[in-house]
Amino acid sequence: MANLQDERQRMVRQQLLLRGISERRILEVMGQVPRERFVPARVQELAYADAPLTIEEGQTISQPYVVALMAHKAEIKPGDRVLEIGTGSGYAAAVLAQLAAQVFTVERVPSLLDSAQRRFQELGYNNIITRLGDGSQGWAEEAPFDAIIVSAAAAQIPQPLCDQLTDWGRLVIPVGPLDAEQRLLKIVRRGTDFRQQNLGAVQFVPLVCGPRCP
Ligand code: SAH
Repeated sequence: MANLQDERQRMVRQQLLLRGISERRILEVMGQVPRERFVPARVQELAYADAPLTIEEGQTISQPYVVALMAHKAEIKPGDRVLEIGTGSGYAAAVLAQLAAQVFTVERVPSLLDSAQRRFQELGYNNIITRLGDGSQGWAEEAPFDAIIVSAAAAQIPQPLCDQLTDWGRLVIPVGPLDAEQRLLKIVRRGTDFRQQNLGAVQFVPLVCGPRCP
């Protein structure tokens, strides 16, 4: 276990700090959340590898750097209510929950959501509220959100997510096809105006959505 703690601190230094993530709260939280508890047992020794890892149901747990980058770009503050789409292992939700007041997270695969919920309980992350469903429609009953983070690549920006931002709310979302370059976009709402910024190339599993998908 001590070994994994050392690896976690090394990940924070080498993968985050040396790559320009200097926000103290994010470095602290990434140094605390036990990523090894969110990966399948067979890849536990790879928990702090500088890469996404395959989890159950053919999905992935994002690379640590990408989780930290998305949290940084979404400008998460202690009082924020945050929506995450694509719970997966629950790792990103756990990180966000240590940075914000409350995290609402939506997953479409029941078995993934069950495992993530169990992890949240075991680790005592009790400010995470989960829902099974199609996250491309957001979570209207709980809106608005100060920040929305999408952990899967959308073909286009889903309008409901923009509509569910607070004034000055931030949406961070990968956009683009599975087999070509995807871009990580940041959208900031100011009244009825939505400013878009390209944060660079990324690779995510697709956001799978229902008939109302854009
Ligand atoms: N944040 C996760 C990464 C998950 S990978 C982690 O830290 O482990 C993306 C996840 O998005 C997958 O679990 C996939 O099932 C889920 N997903 C894809 N389309 C979705 C949709 N429309 N609504 C909710 N979840 C979706």
